Amino acid sequence: MTHLLEVKNLEVSFRSGKEVFTGASDVSFHVDKGEILCIVGESGSGKSITTLSLMGLLGKNGRVDKGSILFDGEELFGKKEKELDNIRGSKITMIFQDALTSLNPVFTIGNQMLEAIQSHSKSSKKEAEEKAKYLLGKVGLSDTEALLQKYPHTLSGGMRQRVMIAMALAGEPKLLIADEPTTALDVTIQAQIMELLKSLNKELAMSVILITHDMGVVAEMADRVLVMYAGEVVEEAPVKVLFHNPGHPYTKALLRSIPGVRKEEEEKLVPIEGSVPEDYDRIRGCRFANRCAFAEEACSLPQKLRQAEDEMAHSIRCWKYEKL
Ligand code: SF4
Repeated sequence: MTHLLEVKNLEVSFRSGKEVFTGASDVSFHVDKGEILCIVGESGSGKSITTLSLMGLLGKNGRVDKGSILFDGEELFGKKEKELDNIRGSKITMIFQDALTSLNPVFTIGNQMLEAIQSHSKSSKKEAEEKAKYLLGKVGLSDTEALLQKYPHTLSGGMRQRVMIAMALAGEPKLLIADEPTTALDVTIQAQIMELLKSLNKELAMSVILITHDMGVVAEMADRVLVMYAGEVVEEAPVKVLFHNPGHPYTKALLRSIPGVRKEEEEKLVPIEGSVPEDYDRIRGCRFANRCAFAEEACSLPQKLRQAEDEMAHSIRCWKYEKL
């Protein structure tokens, strides 16, 4: 099967003066048409860096050093900024945590919607207005005529995020990347936005990469899950496999640290002790070793992702996972 997106052996680094820091190493994954892939991990795990690199949005200090990013049959690695511009916002689009800073405060919603629509299609002002109202309705907003005249600060956080999603749909993208899109919102609004993303995913057969640190969201939304830690993928699995048969000690710890996601086992909540090592790119062996209760000498050797024995498209970066 041809994947919509196939990322292979991605290496991303950042420069600060003479210092070079690795942001993501040996990251490989794919996304199929109409699929929701959740990328999960703590702050500093490399999940946002990975998706920003797909969009060519690493900033001037960051760069993709190696790897392949094959999207819809087209290699994105090595493309010039202008070529990426044609793909960004149309075939691949992204929404962020804070819709207020993503929207321009001095322009009305109508100005910004029309600009997004007309940047993707040759449409008259009238046609673009009609499409703007259609898209705002599609994301569950009403009174769309009046909404076009409003400024971002007059809307609630949930409405602003819906507007951002409507703008993201303007180019009829094949892939939507949502980076912690509900973290800044109230719990009830979070659930509504997730429900909206899921219904758009189904209705438009639009693939979604959802970045989150919330395993409850993963359980609700994901078809497959990529768990990242210290710039590496440590586990990849279909969502049911990950929740019922997690292999990597970090994934197990994540599941034990969050209430309500594995109710049937009534496990005690256990916080993950310690933090991601700052100089993780200098660690030759397992990057989780300083927090892992099962660490031993052999863990200081480089760890590769290995196929799990369950044969469920499940891979784990831990030589010892079968014995745990
Ligand atoms: S390789 Fe060793 S330290 Fe790393 S997760 Fe596995 S058991 Fe723990």
